[in-house]
Amino acid sequence: MRLKDKVALITGSGSGIGKSTALLFANEGACVIVNDLSEEKGVETVKEIEDMGGNAIFIQADVTNPASVQSMVNMIIDQFGRIDILFNNAGISGVGRLHEIEADAWDRIMAVNVKGVFLPSKYALPYMMERKSGSIINMSSCIAEIGLALRASYAATKGAVLALTKSMQVDYAPYNIRVNALLPGTIITPFVEDYLKNSYDDPEEAVEGLKKRQLSGDLGRPEDVARAALFLASDEAKFMMGSPLYIDGGVVSGKNA
Ligand code: NAP
Repeated sequence: MRLKDKVALITGSGSGIGKSTALLFANEGACVIVNDLSEEKGVETVKEIEDMGGNAIFIQADVTNPASVQSMVNMIIDQFGRIDILFNNAGISGVGRLHEIEADAWDRIMAVNVKGVFLPSKYALPYMMERKSGSIINMSSCIAEIGLALRASYAATKGAVLALTKSMQVDYAPYNIRVNALLPGTIITPFVEDYLKNSYDDPEEAVEGLKKRQLSGDLGRPEDVARAALFLASDEAKFMMGSPLYIDGGVVSGKNA
């Protein structure tokens, strides 16, 4: 029960890493607010949490929309009185070399992956500041630290999230709020499966190539990232501030070796 009675908002938790984290947080005693664009997927996450005896509600909101995010935060405060943990996880992929990226696609990925961290933080922070307590976890990626082919727009968003995390930490440390970033390598989720399908003629062969990029020789699983999020969310990480936490099977170390 490492998160007993904590109130945790996880954006994009109808799928992949967010969903796995929602299940783990609930299992550790948190009351989880599952957010997603898709009601069907969000409700399914809540159902799985309730089936295992946990506590969760679903709130549909688009993390790119200020009114939608503000109303979600207001609903949480009305019902629970606080937000202890905010995991800014929602994100989308972007593929292509820079000159091939359409301006609309650039704006969209910036909106979901960067504004989608800004807005939930903006509306949740005043309540955390009031209580002088909180843990914010921002989803970056190991791509923020290494160059990978065909991922310019995505890399730009994840680099922005890492820089934002460090600045946020400086501003909110006086309020006893910790802000850290997760930097996963390739984790098998619907997001990566779609990316493989859309980018390679032979996705199976592409997976074998990706596995070779990891020092671990294998790809990560959503639970691997969920466990790192649990650590950052919990009081065990009280000395972690503004830190990038790698869960990448050694990709960054391997690239820098
Ligand atoms: P996923 O399975 O596609 O989950 C992402 C979730 O975010 C989806 O349920 C999606 O909902 C939701 N979402 C998208 N736009 C949203 C919006 N505007 N408002 C609210 N929710 C929204 O992907 P994942 O692999 O778990 O990725 C989660 C995060 O980890 C992302 O930020 C991703 O960039 C990051 N990450 C992933 C990997 C990896 O290898 N998988 C590596 C590094 C970092 P809908 O499907 O309903 O649109």
